[in-house]
Amino acid sequence: MKEPEHDALVIGSGAGGATMAWALAERGLRVLLLEAGPAYVPERDYGLDQTDWELRGFVDDVEGIGRQTAAPLQRLDPAWDDLRSMSHVRGRVNPGPRRRYAGYRHVRGLGGSTLHFVGEAHRLNPQAMRMRTRFGVAADWPVTYAELEPWYERIERVIGVAGPAAEAARPRRSPLPLPPHPPSYASQRLVTAGRALGMTWVPNTLAALSRPYDGRPPCNYCAGCARGCPRRDKGSVDVTLLRRAAESGNCLIRTGCVVTHLDPGEDDRVQAVSYVDAEGNVQRERVRTVVVAAGAVETPRLLLLSASPRAPGGLGNESGLVGRNLMETLSWSASALHPDRLGSHRGLPSDVICWDWNAPDAIPGVVGGCRFSPTTAESDLLGPIAYASRVVDGFGRGHQDAVRDALGRVLSVGAIGESLPDPGSFVDLDPEARDAHGQALARIHSHLGVRELERLRFMARTCRDLLAAAGAEAPFEQTGTYDHFFSTHVFGTCRMGTDPATSVVDGFGCSHRWKNLVVADASLFPSSGGGEAPSLTIEALALRSADRLARRARRREL
Ligand SMILES: Cc1cc2nc3c(=O)[nH]c(=O)nc-3n(C[C@H](O)[C@H](O)[C@H](O)COP(=O)(O)OP(=O)(O)OC[C@H]3O[C@@H](n4cnc5c(N)ncnc54)[C@H](O)[C@@H]3O)c2cc1C
Ligand code: SF4
Repeated sequence: MKEPEHDALVIGSGAGGATMAWALAERGLRVLLLEAGPAYVPERDYGLDQTDWELRGFVDDVEGIGRQTAAPLQRLDPAWDDLRSMSHVRGRVNPGPRRRYAGYRHVRGLGGSTLHFVGEAHRLNPQAMRMRTRFGVAADWPVTYAELEPWYERIERVIGVAGPAAEAARPRRSPLPLPPHPPSYASQRLVTAGRALGMTWVPNTLAALSRPYDGRPPCNYCAGCARGCPRRDKGSVDVTLLRRAAESGNCLIRTGCVVTHLDPGEDDRVQAVSYVDAEGNVQRERVRTVVVAAGAVETPRLLLLSASPRAPGGLGNESGLVGRNLMETLSWSASALHPDRLGSHRGLPSDVICWDWNAPDAIPGVVGGCRFSPTTAESDLLGPIAYASRVVDGFGRGHQDAVRDALGRVLSVGAIGESLPDPGSFVDLDPEARDAHGQALARIHSHLGVRELERLRFMARTCRDLLAAAGAEAPFEQTGTYDHFFSTHVFGTCRMGTDPATSVVDGFGCSHRWKNLVVADASLFPSSGGGEAPSLTIEALALRSADRLARRARRREL
């Protein structure tokens, strides 16, 4: 086989992979980026200006690859019935005896899950990085907040983050590059109600432009982020980091390429990567360094699929922890009608946030924090179809009038909380289900412990209290992850740490054994944080790791 043509091969182009590809290319390394999904053109593919916009979800319609399965989920206990999802139209959303699998939400496309994210760009609370030392749960981070700070600062400038100048819990050396967005009218009503309950609300920190920046226009407050931003002002990595990677001239980006296997060679090095290209041809690429950034479900799958006589339990799985310690999204959202016309169908999603219970010891009686924010857009309660089918009862002319009257009066508030590792939560290979290339699909196992349920109960109660304080009617819909697995943030399946016995990779994402194998996505997180959105931290970690890799490459150590 011929010598490697590239210094680094990066698998996956989400928050982690895109950062790695750009940062390595910027430092002069020749990079090949392989992405399973297609490239989207925001102006063409995100139909927010089309009359059928509401019927379109995100254009993530790649057939035959990237689907997951789930093992039977836990039985539901009547003691926690108050946490069952309900809607005034359907009653119990899941009337069955077991938790239901509703999917791991992610995007296969150039830019990964940042394409449909709502742009929250959070630094992790430093207190959430020491969960083992302080509370005896999860694992400590092998990197400190102070070590990550310069990388947070750099990535905030590159993608364009808007938000408050300072925040006590997350100290910063310099202000964010952009001022905060003004809260929408509906969010102002939540803030006022929260204050009456003693809550502190602040503008959220968002990768969405509040001023022209980086050659991109500011946000127009259309609320459509989850369907993809057609203006390119949202800081998804396709329009920020990958654009820069391509401009560097050092990064070759290939879409529609599904990596199927990593081949371990001699001297504890990965020798080659096999993939199926967009034309269906099987390719084999010799590698100098390989960065796996396929997301916290597909990265462990790929490593487990790469088992061989040299790596019998899976590549990089000497600890047996590849796929273990899956942390999922613990979330709750409640929606109610407000008597006033709030115009809640427009505005930047999640434009304000309450961090009061974000620290791991902030919720009385339970370890692990949470945060609150408006969720009208994330609950997809924006258009007339949602109102006609989920908000307003009836039929005929009266129903039409009621929909018209209700439009813009929905107020939703939600919470995301810490998810602690549980022996029952992990990713393995499905013994039966196969993808289009005949490879085992990832199978998700999930179990919520009592701590998670107590935290969820606190989150649900606070959401209800807040809506009542805002003057809204009783909630018409409440949805949570007690009776559904419905994850948007997943972490932990290739945990980083200092001890090879209790972690998969070191604090730079490098395999403890395989000298040229690096992981660079949400799989790395030793703990989830108290509801912080993960992308900014994934990117800061990847930047730090890329900087070290580039220095090693210059010294010819790779
Ligand atoms: C509705 C929604 C809203 C969200 N909002 C926010 C938010 O506001 N802020 C935030 O920080 N986070 C948010 N998230 C979560 C966030 O988008 C993800 O957690 C984060 O982007 C994950 O990044 P990643 O690099 O780990 O993986 P991903 O973004 O999932 O990237 C993995 C990439 O690898 C590719 N890939 C997978 N397997 C292969 C293979 N075999 N070969 C080649 N390529 C492969 C995939 O196609 C994908 O592009 C949201 C998520 C959802 C669903
Ligand atoms: S609200 Fe702003 S960031 Fe979101 S899709 Fe609309 S223009 Fe883009």
